[in-house]
Parts: sequence; structure tokens; C-alpha cells
Amino acid sequence: MPPAITRSNQLHYQTTLRDAIEFAGVGLHTGDPGRVRITPSKAGAGLRFRLNDAVEFPARADYVVDTRRATMLGFEGHTVSTVEHLLSAILGMGIDNALISVEGPEIPVMDGSAKVFADAIAHVGSVVQREPRLRFIPTEPYLFRDGDKLLIVVPSSAFRIRMTVDYDEPIGAQYRDIEVDPATYTSEIAPNRTFGFQHEVEALIRRGLAQGGTLENAVVFGPDGPLAPLRSSDEPCRHKILDLIGDFALLGAYPQCEIIAIKSGHKLHCLAVRELRPASATLRAAAVSP
Ligand SMILES: [Zn+2]
Repeated sequence: MPPAITRSNQLHYQTTLRDAIEFAGVGLHTGDPGRVRITPSKAGAGLRFRLNDAVEFPARADYVVDTRRATMLGFEGHTVSTVEHLLSAILGMGIDNALISVEGPEIPVMDGSAKVFADAIAHVGSVVQREPRLRFIPTEPYLFRDGDKLLIVVPSSAFRIRMTVDYDEPIGAQYRDIEVDPATYTSEIAPNRTFGFQHEVEALIRRGLAQGGTLENAVVFGPDGPLAPLRSSDEPCRHKILDLIGDFALLGAYPQCEIIAIKSGHKLHCLAVRELRPASATLRAAAVSP
């Protein structure tokens, strides 16, 4: 018999979507239209990408091909950019198994956050499967560093994140910590949008980048503050947590660990995940009776 669907054992058994969900829209960086369809998968399948009906590969750090402005995955000449917000919603909402089919070069930006994705997952619902959830459980601390950026991964009984950012004014220094579960993800993390400084955004647009960016799907900070109202006073810090969760989805296992991040970004996250992943001794199928 499959386990009964209860809130407590959803934390310990694999889940997939109850039904397919779809998204369409333009990409933040390319401005090109894209379409995503996410379908349920059997237990043990993990998260997988299918690009342009041509190639299929697991959502894992080995397939990262670029981390300069967003996390880009690729395989055999096909690439998909800006996967982090969608993967963040999938991991944040506790989905282990799904096939993500993409047409176009980039995941649609939607409102610049993970809210549209998380709401769609909550609306369609999840199914608890028979197999115990595969988890990444470190038994010792790991430290990753890139200049003044730091990422520390330590053992923990739950998935926790402590994020510190330190930007020029008017963003400044911000700190937030959170224990990630579907409820905290939905209310505290998913709605927070991508952001940038006005002078940087103008430079990106001149170079043909950020073509899909608008004041609706990105928070733009001018010299005196945000050009449009924020969704939370520390929206940039919360968005960095959102991004980090998306990159850690590339572990291919549920991160049962605490992550202490100081000024880190996609490059350091993906480097860490790539190095943590081969520590397969720490990947455990852990089922706890409800
Ligand atoms: Zn982001």
C-alpha cells in the first residue's frame, strides 16, 4: 500500500504533480517567447528537462553551461536559460519527480518571481509516491569561496538557509534566515522578484540583454530607492534565497542541510552543488514512519 497522504509524511516520501501545468511568456534576458509544460513522473525519475522535443537530461549541476546572469543548462547543443526560478518553485513546493518540457531558449520570466510557478503547483496539487525521498544529508561542513562570496553547507535536521547580501545603497546590507517548506516558501520566498540597479539595467539593455525586463517583472533601484513599490522591505535578499533554492535543486536530491550564504550567486552555488553531488555516500533514501 502506498503511504497515506498526510502533511507529516509528505516530508519523507517522493512526490510528483497531480496533473500537468503549463506556462508561456517571454524570457527576461532574450525577450524571446518560450513555453513550458511540466508533467508528472514516476518515483525515482527525479527532475528532468526535455528541450525542443529533441534532448532529455536530468536537472543536475553537471548540465550547467553558463552562470553569468542566470543559470543555463544545456545538452548536445540545446540550451535553456534562467531555469532557477522555476526549479526554485519545484523544490520549494517539495516536488521530487517531474518532466519539464521547454520550447524556446529561456524559461518565461512571468512576474520576475517564482509566485506564478508555485501557485500553479499548489493549485494542481501533489501526489505522494511509494518511494522514500532521496535526500542530500551532509555529515560534515563544506565551505566554498569565490573572492568575497562565501557558501557554507552544514548538517541540519531540515532545509535551512541563512542569506546575507551587501549591495550599494539604496539596497545596502540585508539578512534573512528561513526553514524551507512549502508553506514558508509560498508566503516568504516565492513572491520576491528579480532586481537590478537602474544604471546596470540601462547598460544591459544597450548591450541587447534584459530584453524581456519591465518594471512589472523586475525591481529596479534608482539612486533614491525602488522605482515601483516592493513586495517586502528586503525583497532583494529574499530573491537571492529564491535563486539559491533553484540552484540547489540541481543536487538531484532534497537538500537536508543548512546553507549559510554570504553574497553568493549562481556561479558559486553551481560550483558547490557540482562538488557536493559526487559525495554520493551522503545521498540517502530516508523514510520515516509517520
Ligand atoms: Zn533570480
